[in-house]
Amino acid sequence: MKFHVLTLFPEIPRAFFESSIMAKAVQKGIIAYDLVNIRDYAFDKHKTCDDNPYGGGAGMLMMPEPLNLALKSVRDKIGRKNWSGKNAKKKVIYVTPSGKPFTQKLAQELSQEDNLVLICGRYEGIDNRIIDTWVDEEISIGDYVLSSGEIAATVIIDAVYRLVDGVISSESLEEESYSDGLLEYPQYTRPEVFEGKGVPDVLLSGHHENIRKWRLKMRLAKTLRVRPDLVCEARKNGLLNAEAERMIEEITTQ
Ligand code: SAM
Repeated sequence: MKFHVLTLFPEIPRAFFESSIMAKAVQKGIIAYDLVNIRDYAFDKHKTCDDNPYGGGAGMLMMPEPLNLALKSVRDKIGRKNWSGKNAKKKVIYVTPSGKPFTQKLAQELSQEDNLVLICGRYEGIDNRIIDTWVDEEISIGDYVLSSGEIAATVIIDAVYRLVDGVISSESLEEESYSDGLLEYPQYTRPEVFEGKGVPDVLLSGHHENIRKWRLKMRLAKTLRVRPDLVCEARKNGLLNAEAERMIEEITTQ
């Protein structure tokens, strides 16, 4: 999987690519990245990348020409076959607050691509003709407005790369929040007593079946409390078996 990030501030995503598990995945060759500085494709001597919006209004807009040239350069690097061939697995994403909401399900879908091209906006965003011509998906990381797209693109990259085969063990991913529609159970590590607070007895029992049941019940209780909408969604998608429904009954009648 290769991430191509088009940005006016490559140092923001670079810090992420050079750290922690991501850096290891890059070293192992599972993940690759290319940071494309849009300013390199500006053609006046001041390297201007923004201009006033037609129709007036506050703020500036990213001009189409530098972005267009930067995208062409990425397409050339990826090669036409991998860009638009029959078996091409690539997506061009514009991160924007007016895009579709980013979810774990979408992260899983994107983890199947070979090339993800992410356009980071700045100012009031980008000229719409770039979206019409190049963009496959407009994605928002939440219902709020950030000052630029680098953080949003990095959030998407972080959620996606860890799902790529070989980055993290599949066992670690299995019981994570959202993996099967529910939030995660509470977790504890040493010491057994911390500032007077103990660890639930069941976790010290070594009884695997009881631990499994306790964890499922905790997941259901937390999801019901914090995100009841997810429980409805899990039920609709057939993800709750009879055991889970019994536990929900117990939790809600307690
Ligand atoms: N004028 C835009 C609007 O009202 O939708 C907001 C532009 S915002 C100040 C600048 C850039 O930050 C956007 O072009 C986008 O790339 C990025 N951005 C801001 N909030 C975002 C969000 N919630 N999700 C994804 N990208 C976001």
